[in-house]
Amino acid sequence: MTFRVLTAELAHETNTFSRLLTGKQAFKDRYVLIGDEAIEARCEANTELAGFLDAGRAHGWQIEHVLSAAAGPSGKVTRSAFEWLCDPIVAAVERGSFDGILLGLHGATVLDFCEDGEGEILRRIRAALSRETPVAITLDPHANVSTQMCSLADIIVSFRTYPHVDMRETGVRAAAILQRTMAGEIRPETIRVGRPMLEEVNGGRTDVGPMIARLAAAEDYETRSDVFAVSINAGFASTDTADVGPTVLVTGQGDFDQHIAFAETLADDIWAKRHEVLNDYLTVAAAAAIAAEYDPQNGPLVIADYADNPGAGGYGDSTALLGALLEAGVGHACFGPMVDGEVVQALHRAKVGEHIRVVLGGKIDPAFGGGPLTLEGELISISDGHYVGDGPILGGLSRSYGPTAVLRVDDIEILIVTIAKQMLDLQQFKAFGIEPERARVIALKSMQHFRAAFEPIAGQVIVCDSGALCTLHYDRLPYLNVPRPIFPLDPDAAWSD
Ligand SMILES: [Zn+2]
Repeated sequence: MTFRVLTAELAHETNTFSRLLTGKQAFKDRYVLIGDEAIEARCEANTELAGFLDAGRAHGWQIEHVLSAAAGPSGKVTRSAFEWLCDPIVAAVERGSFDGILLGLHGATVLDFCEDGEGEILRRIRAALSRETPVAITLDPHANVSTQMCSLADIIVSFRTYPHVDMRETGVRAAAILQRTMAGEIRPETIRVGRPMLEEVNGGRTDVGPMIARLAAAEDYETRSDVFAVSINAGFASTDTADVGPTVLVTGQGDFDQHIAFAETLADDIWAKRHEVLNDYLTVAAAAAIAAEYDPQNGPLVIADYADNPGAGGYGDSTALLGALLEAGVGHACFGPMVDGEVVQALHRAKVGEHIRVVLGGKIDPAFGGGPLTLEGELISISDGHYVGDGPILGGLSRSYGPTAVLRVDDIEILIVTIAKQMLDLQQFKAFGIEPERARVIALKSMQHFRAAFEPIAGQVIVCDSGALCTLHYDRLPYLNVPRPIFPLDPDAAWSD
């Protein structure tokens, strides 16, 4: 029997504290790909869609792919942008008679009219389905999973890696469960348990730390015949909503008391280890001091600015780390990206080789991560900002920073861009003439994803908190809607255990 399956990808990680609302342009800046165009761009890369297609071929599905769209993490998604992307999916569901629905979602989308973005997508799709049709979704583990999502999606499968390098595999896993469901072999449901925390304390790192054992336990539980997927979501802390926080999901059937009891054991472990921090979060001054003394014999020093990560909705224009590096006289270094479209425009009007004075960065909200720096430097290059990734996350995928410029100030090459992007692929420097392997110090904006491409070339990695929007000092953020008490905003004394 040939099953007809509708697929789509729609992803946003919403930082509700960001001043920058996410409209249509923000999606166009990342990607909005319709039907075959999406398949062509994403079928050979490490994407959920590639996994859906792999499985579809193996199972002989007839697939209708509606669209693939994502915006860079930023503020709430506007109603007009949401409906522009969600309506075609719902319309396709109404038109077609599908045996199954398979969606690649993120799980931390907040709309300007609704806290539970994925719940809203699923609610609209369910309303358009004429009969009991199984719905399967994949999620990024930085998802804040609501009970509504679990009641509307039969099958939920999250990525298992952070840095995320298993998107395609996750697509295959979700599709395989959907296949068994459509064939009438199984009838899965998904349950969730959570803990009152903003997020798993290490953001869900899976290269080191307690997540490794949790995932092993999850895989072991999945060997039961009535369990199809166990997902461990670290949550996404920059979300001021009722559903914030880590969750454990079991997609299964049969004895749900047992499944819930198992999920509780993993959630207990997340709670018990809430104080175990895997990174040493340095001040920018401490990071700059290490950089000034660094011996690059074994490779460059990589300094990650955790707090200004555009991959979590940071503005990418924090100046605190760059200022500290310049003040410490750190040489033979590169820094990127610094988001400042205004400065890029000015540099595009200048000549390469020219010495120019700029007022750089710190313009969106100087209270987080420092105000503008007045700098003088040599314009090294300008570009339209296009690059194609070649690392484990972005390999083969085309992206753009919008117009860019490289400015050398003292002995630091600064990549200045228009569109905020987390630094997670070497091509994000190399395409603009900066050779990170040859630098003594690489300063970049990312929390954890950078490790996939940059750890192999690094002599040492350090992480700092510049005080930008994704700072670990959560008490600086105006949380109003999260359930209280919650870790770490409230003292441990607030809980009875
Ligand atoms: Zn993520």
